[in-house]
Amino acid sequence: MKKWVLPSLAGLVFYSCGSTKALVTADRTPIRTTMDLKNVVDDKVMVSVDPGAFTTNDVSFLIPKTVPGTYSTDNYGKYIVDLKALDYDGNELAVTKSDDNTWNITDGKNLDKVTYYVNDTYDTESNTEDAVFSPAGTNILKDKNFMLNLHGFVGYFKGLQEVPYEIEISVPENLEPTTTLIMKEVTDEETGKDTFLASRYFEVIDNPILYAEPNTETFKLNDIEVKLSVYSPNDVYKASDLKEKMEKMMTAQKAFLGDVNSTKNYDILLYLSTMDSTDASGFGALEHHTSTTVVLPEAMPKDRLEQAMIDVVSHEFFHTVTPLNVHSKEVQYFDFNDPKMSRHLWMYEGTTEYFANLFQVQQGLIDETEFYQRMMDKITNSKAYDDALSFTTMSQNILENPYKENYANVYEKGALINMVLDIELRQLSNGEKGVLWLMKELSKKYGQDTPFEDDQLIDEIVAMTYPEIRTFFDEHVIGDKPIAYSAYLAKVGLKIESAEKQTGYFLDGEVPFIDIDPTNNNAVFIRKGIPLTSFFLDLGAENGDVIKSINGTLITLETMRPIIGQSFGWSPDTEIIMTVQRGDDEVKLEGKVGTPMLQAKTIVPVMNIAPKEAQLRAAWLKS
Ligand SMILES: [Zn+2]
Repeated sequence: MKKWVLPSLAGLVFYSCGSTKALVTADRTPIRTTMDLKNVVDDKVMVSVDPGAFTTNDVSFLIPKTVPGTYSTDNYGKYIVDLKALDYDGNELAVTKSDDNTWNITDGKNLDKVTYYVNDTYDTESNTEDAVFSPAGTNILKDKNFMLNLHGFVGYFKGLQEVPYEIEISVPENLEPTTTLIMKEVTDEETGKDTFLASRYFEVIDNPILYAEPNTETFKLNDIEVKLSVYSPNDVYKASDLKEKMEKMMTAQKAFLGDVNSTKNYDILLYLSTMDSTDASGFGALEHHTSTTVVLPEAMPKDRLEQAMIDVVSHEFFHTVTPLNVHSKEVQYFDFNDPKMSRHLWMYEGTTEYFANLFQVQQGLIDETEFYQRMMDKITNSKAYDDALSFTTMSQNILENPYKENYANVYEKGALINMVLDIELRQLSNGEKGVLWLMKELSKKYGQDTPFEDDQLIDEIVAMTYPEIRTFFDEHVIGDKPIAYSAYLAKVGLKIESAEKQTGYFLDGEVPFIDIDPTNNNAVFIRKGIPLTSFFLDLGAENGDVIKSINGTLITLETMRPIIGQSFGWSPDTEIIMTVQRGDDEVKLEGKVGTPMLQAKTIVPVMNIAPKEAQLRAAWLKS
C-alpha cells in the first residue's frame, strides 16, 4: 500500500438452484456468486452468495474486517444491509449478527444462499472518521463506474475460504471490466453477464475489478503484459496520456529487478476522483499479486499526475517482490476477521518504498541530487513519528495505538532502515551485495506459495550475510535506538547541511503546512512550530493563523481540499487573497503566490571524497 498526499488531512439476478445440488456438499461445490450492476437500487448493489449444501447446522457468513496490505481495521461488513438467508424454497431463515462482519445461521442444513445489498465507501469517506482508504474502498455509480474491491462485495462462509468461486456479474452494456481475475471463456453477450472464476476466497479479493467505459492501453515488459485502465469522470485523462511515462518507468523497474518477479499480467486500475464530498478522498494505491488499484485527484495537471503515478505505481509493482513473493505465514494464511500481524513491515513496506526510489536513480530516471533530497525528506518526515519505537513491535501491533498512529513511518523510517542496511551490506561485501541481492536470494528460497517463519527471518538474513548485520537489526529494527544517519552517509562520502529548496503551496511532499483544529469546528490553520515557506512569509502569514477564506471561498475542511487540488496548477503569477484570523484580528493577506521555497536540510556530497567512499557510493547507486 502507498498513501499519497493529504494523509494527515484525511483525519480530517437470482440464480435458482436445482434440487440436485443438495447432493453435493458445501466444501466441494464452487460458491456461486451473483452481482447485479444493472439494477442499482438506492446506490446499492444486490449480491447473492450460494454455497453447496451444508452438513452442519451452525453456519457463519463473513465479510472481511481487514484485508492484506491496508494494516487497518475497516469492518467492510458495515456497508452490508438487508442480509437474508434463504432456504431452497425461498423462505427466510433466522439470522443473528455477532459483530459488524459476522452473520450466523442456525438452520444451516436448510440454507440455500444468502442475499444482501452493498453500499459503497466512496460516498461517505470524507465525513467518516477512520474511513476506508480509497484504493481498498468501493464505488457504485450507476451506469458510469464500479470500483469492485471484491472484499467489500463478496463474503465467505466460515471454513470454506479454500473453496472455488464463480462470480457472475450483470453489467450495463457501456461498461467493460479491467481485472486479472480469470474470465470464464464463454461470456454471455445476450444477457450482458460477465462470469469470473477464482480458485479460493483469497483470489477473489486479490483481483479487484474496475468497471468503466473503455479507456485502456496495454504495453509489454519483456514477457509481462501490462494493462492501464483509467476512469476519469470528467474525461480529463485518457489512458494514452499516461502510457508513455508508465511504460518507461516500468521498463526501468523490470531492468532493476531482473527475473525476480514471475507474473505474466499486471493491471493498473486508476480511479480519478473529483474530490467532491461524495467521492474518494484517500489518495495512493493498494498492491495485489497481479494488479494495483490507484486513486488520485482528477484535477492534477499532467506532469504532477505522471509523477504521482510513477511514485505510487512503482511502489506497488515492487510489492510483487515483498510481501507477495517473500512473506511470513501470517500473510500466507491471512485471517480476514482475526488477523495476526507479521513483525516485518520494515521489509514489506520499507524495502518496497526504498526500491521505489533507488531504482529511479539507478536507472537514470532521477539524478543523485533528487535521490538525496528524497532520502532527506524521509529523514525529516520520520521525526514527526516516534523515532524510538521498535519496528518489529510496531508491526506486530499495527492495528492498535500507539503503533497505529505511527504506521505512516513505514514509508519514511522503514525506507531509511533499508537505505542504511544497503550501505552496510555494500561496505561489508566490498560493494558486491546490497538489499536487492538479499531480496533476490529470499525470493528464490521462498516465493509466492512458501512462507517463512516470522520469528526466524532476521536470524536467516544474518546467516546469509555478516555477523555485523545482527547488531544493526538488534539495535535499530528489533531495538528502539534511533539511527545516526550522518554516520552511514559518511561511509559513501555524503553529509547533511542546510539549504533552500522548492516545495508546494500547502504541502511539502506529503507533509501539509496546514492542519485542522477539531476543538474549533475543524478550523483550518497554519501549523505552529514549523518553518514557513516563502509563499506564506511573502504574504505576511504567520504560524497559527486560522485561514478564514481564500479568493472569496469560505474555508472549511471540505472547501480546503479542492483548493489544495487547484494549487498544484498555480503559476508564480497567480494572485491570491487570503483572510486569516490572528488572535482577535482578521487580517487580509494579498499578493502573487510566487514559487514556494523552504529552508531545509539536504544531503550533499563531501568535497575531496576518498576513492574507497566513491567506489562504495557508485556500487550503492549505480549497480
Ligand atoms: Zn505498500
